[in-house]
Amino acid sequence: MTATAPRPAGEQRLPSAAQIAARATEQLASVTDTPRLEAELLLAHALGVSRTALLASLREPRDAPAFEALLERRLRREPIAYILGEWEFYSLALTVAPPLLVPRPETEHVVEEALKRAPAVSPRILDVGTGTGCLAVALAVELSEAQVTAVDVRPEALAAAGENARRHGVADRVSAYGGDLFAALPADSAPFDLIVSNPPYVETAAWDGLAPDIRLYEDPGALLAGPEGLDVIRRLIGEGWSRLAPGGWLVFEMGDGQWPSVRRVLAAGGFTEADCACDLAGIPRVAMGRRPLGSR
Ligand code: GLN
Repeated sequence: MTATAPRPAGEQRLPSAAQIAARATEQLASVTDTPRLEAELLLAHALGVSRTALLASLREPRDAPAFEALLERRLRREPIAYILGEWEFYSLALTVAPPLLVPRPETEHVVEEALKRAPAVSPRILDVGTGTGCLAVALAVELSEAQVTAVDVRPEALAAAGENARRHGVADRVSAYGGDLFAALPADSAPFDLIVSNPPYVETAAWDGLAPDIRLYEDPGALLAGPEGLDVIRRLIGEGWSRLAPGGWLVFEMGDGQWPSVRRVLAAGGFTEADCACDLAGIPRVAMGRRPLGSR
């Protein structure tokens, strides 16, 4: 007869990582479409190990005292990127701090379209409303000769963008300035070859319909832009013209359904070669237009 040796009195039977993750996955299913992934990310974070290391040791008993508090935060709809303190964008791990907009996969298309249009030699790039610095840092990493200027009205953004530039070794080529859109630029700022932005573009009336993860935690100033969601995009187009070198491109993110209006505003502003690119859901997401060569 085989018998399991009795446990010494007082010894706790710890759950395995798999058991902890399975229970958390069930709970997280009420707040996210990716409950298993998020359970693993939160548990790995609580244990101070990588997700890969966690997955390689799922059967091991785990003592994770910090886990319950992290799980509670997520169940209250706090974005997982804020809980982890970092999030991946364009294959770069970026520091993320509330209330800065969490970098989203749609915004990676802005990087792709910008890269197609950046001049090969020493491009001068401006990121308007940089937030975590995701666009500025990704472009500086991809374009080793680029000089990137990042502006944002929030001091938290300048700190995060600076830290992310340092994390990825491009701090010497990314300068950040505080202020409202182009007013943040130093007086002697030379024209740019490329202006990129993920501006606020949510219509006022759409606010109540946003997911609580967004509405309760992220900066409304980074999301809302008037009745049509176009207030900041109109300024980007109107004020951006004089900040671009002739032949330079403006590339920015927009909301679902905004392309017909955005195209009109670009044309009215003198931009040519206006075009849009779709996100993975097939929604026109990135708008671009060019200040013609020879224009004044
Ligand atoms: N795409 C974001 C959202 O879903 C909006 C981002 C923005 O306004 N720049 O809320």
